[in-house]
Amino acid sequence: MRIARVSLDGEIHYAVLHEAAPDSGAPEETIVALLAGHPFGDIAPEGRVLPLSAVKLLAPVIPSKIIAIGRNYVDHAAEMGGVPPVSPLLFLKPSTSVIGPDDPIVLPWQSERVDHEAELAVVIGRMCKDVPAEQAFDVVLGFTCANDVTARDLQKVDGQWTRAKGFDTFCPLGPWIETDLVIEEAGLTCSVNGAVTQDGNVADLVHDIPALIAFASSVMTLLPGDVILTGTPAGVGPIVAGDTVSVTVHGIGTLSNPVVDHV
Ligand code: MG
Repeated sequence: MRIARVSLDGEIHYAVLHEAAPDSGAPEETIVALLAGHPFGDIAPEGRVLPLSAVKLLAPVIPSKIIAIGRNYVDHAAEMGGVPPVSPLLFLKPSTSVIGPDDPIVLPWQSERVDHEAELAVVIGRMCKDVPAEQAFDVVLGFTCANDVTARDLQKVDGQWTRAKGFDTFCPLGPWIETDLVIEEAGLTCSVNGAVTQDGNVADLVHDIPALIAFASSVMTLLPGDVILTGTPAGVGPIVAGDTVSVTVHGIGTLSNPVVDHV
């Protein structure tokens, strides 16, 4: 099931996306069934069904926190000049860094080098603490695409990553939440202006999703809508104003964002 957060006539709704039946006469393939309330708990349609073009897709969640994982693919750890950590390396991105599909990534004046990092994002479905790895998927609502945008120069000079990873617009999420992703088949790519820059597979995570949920929830309570960014494969590189950067997770979809300069 695909769950989106959408704007319709200035109001925000959650919705389930369906493929229209071929003989339905629907003018578009994808239709949107608006939900009553939110998707954390029982999912109930409110009745209205619209074509996808009638709504604007928003970031699929506004998390209370974004827990991100550093150096969780061997090839990316190597390109950063290191090896993966023995335990997951957690850092936080602020909720205010979240943007949705097609929203612009704004390059901050403080940085001269901003990189893309394509990642699979895990969306937590319910409040939890100390989740055993064997039960980790019980607390997952689904998965979406993320871009862990990073001011690489500031990351190097600051010694910790709050500023480099925390600017407004530095966490594109979307285009929707897929609840039934087959992790082992989830290829993960990034492209800049159509040219592929990252080409990995979620099966290659050093610390896998159950391990990340167990580790993170041993530290802090996870709330519905919280997001775990699982790390990025090799191929991170710069984005500049005028670019369009796209993250694709096979089995979910593509998250695209234009890049603009600060004003
Ligand atoms: Mg990252």
